Amino acid sequence: MNEIKKMFIDGQWVVSLSGKAREVVNPSNGEVFALVTEGSAADVKLAVAAAKRAFYEDGWMDTKAIERARLLYAVADEIARCASELSLLDTLDNGKPLRETEFDVSDAVTCFRYYAGIATKPHGQTYEVADAIQSIVIREPIGVCGQIIPWNYPLLMAAWKLAPALAAGNTVVFKPSEVTPLSAIKLFEIFEKVGYPKGVVNLVMGAGQTVGAEIASNMDIDKVAFTGGTKTGRSIMQAATGNLKNIALELGGKSPNVVFADADFELAVDYALYGIFCNQGQVCSAGSRLLLQDTIYDAFIERLVERAKKIKVGIGTAPETEMGPLISESHMQKVLNYIETGKNEGAKLLCGGSRIVEGDLGKGYFVEPTIFGDTTPDMTIVREEIFGPVLAVQKFSTEEEAIKLANDTVYGLAGAVFTNDSSKAMRFIKKLRAGITWINTYHPTYCEAPWGGYKQSGIGRELGTFGYEEYTEVKQINITYEPQLTGWFQG
Ligand code: NDP
Repeated sequence: MNEIKKMFIDGQWVVSLSGKAREVVNPSNGEVFALVTEGSAADVKLAVAAAKRAFYEDGWMDTKAIERARLLYAVADEIARCASELSLLDTLDNGKPLRETEFDVSDAVTCFRYYAGIATKPHGQTYEVADAIQSIVIREPIGVCGQIIPWNYPLLMAAWKLAPALAAGNTVVFKPSEVTPLSAIKLFEIFEKVGYPKGVVNLVMGAGQTVGAEIASNMDIDKVAFTGGTKTGRSIMQAATGNLKNIALELGGKSPNVVFADADFELAVDYALYGIFCNQGQVCSAGSRLLLQDTIYDAFIERLVERAKKIKVGIGTAPETEMGPLISESHMQKVLNYIETGKNEGAKLLCGGSRIVEGDLGKGYFVEPTIFGDTTPDMTIVREEIFGPVLAVQKFSTEEEAIKLANDTVYGLAGAVFTNDSSKAMRFIKKLRAGITWINTYHPTYCEAPWGGYKQSGIGRELGTFGYEEYTEVKQINITYEPQLTGWFQG
């Protein structure tokens, strides 16, 4: 425990220039269980210089796709080999149940393998543009990429950012959340082990206000990719204007999960629970607004509450645990404040609503699965992203009203519809202003499909070929195979 975990800059494990360290807390019991070095802007600058040198001078920008693929496959194999260690690290660090972190680790393996495959696949286009002229469009890496991730999926978010960036041939300066740095440290040990050249992958740990802000504003970083809150996303966008960085923002949501009366009742109840309480509700795409058709409202609520009360809340390492603690005391307080606001604004608390204070759970940051009914569209709990286990239920009568309510948000990340009428399902989804949608399911996410939002939920897409392309520049090369004088100037 006394050992201070280091960060990885230019192929070396180093402590920060300031020598400061940060305590890492287990949210299940509030205890400090690790110490990590605490970086600052000065450390980011060193990492950026290394990443820039590795890209331009050491030859990484010319590394063949097959070599980039080989390294990514090796990373995937090593993650798979260290799966139990990695899932335990994320469970201790984040609090989420082991069954979730095991899933995250397996998804991270898939993500590295997917982008290893993508690296060697065809990219680009060719056109016959004019007589004897061929236009070729190629994709090239952008350069030095800064990447900033949150705490809700520590390893998986790292995979989503790092795998496509490295597949496309960029170098990276990566910042995990200050509260969940441990699986990132292990991941960078894996990068070192598989043999990434010096400076290609750099890990800088520290606070968003210092390390994150420097990544966003640094003039030698060519792209910044961020996942986190919309407020932070806005400040990153502003900071990135200095050198007009390429930006990718995956931000918050207040996603509607819409259930029509003709839906499979038990299926819809099951996914309504999963949509909001999976990962303790700390999911950007959480189905945090449940829209129920009036004719099934009462029966649905009754069944939903009955099942929500049975959710087993506990410490993440216990095999029976279905829902863990929130990430930190301050975040828990924020969620509890939202619950108070919900009550004060007149929503009806149907279940939960409190911190769990009894027994061992009282030491951690546990909040009961909470459901509010009788909400109105103007209520704070209906409008703002709570990022916790709090569901706001809304009632509608017609399809038109459902779509109006569903789209009545500044966000546009995700949404789902449950109905057995396939025409209605497609009609509804096509009118939904959101980037990630589901019909008769909620939450499944695939490496192959693009992830990102409309409106204030972000800019750009992760995953799939879209996610790869986000890490490339596009260059046109026009070649004539019968060169001729222009004849434009006569003198
Ligand atoms: P943030 O958006 O603040 O944090 C996400 C990442 O950004 C962290 O690594 C953080 O650093 C970093 N960061 C913070 N400030 C800056 C900055 N000025 N410049 C650059 N990087 C910065 O999320 P929070 O953890 O504070 O949560 C706040 C709210 O954001 C949540 O309540 C939730 O509503 C939402 N959120 C949404 C997520 C999503 O996936 N859509 C994920 C996480 C949060 P640090 O290490 O200091 O935290």
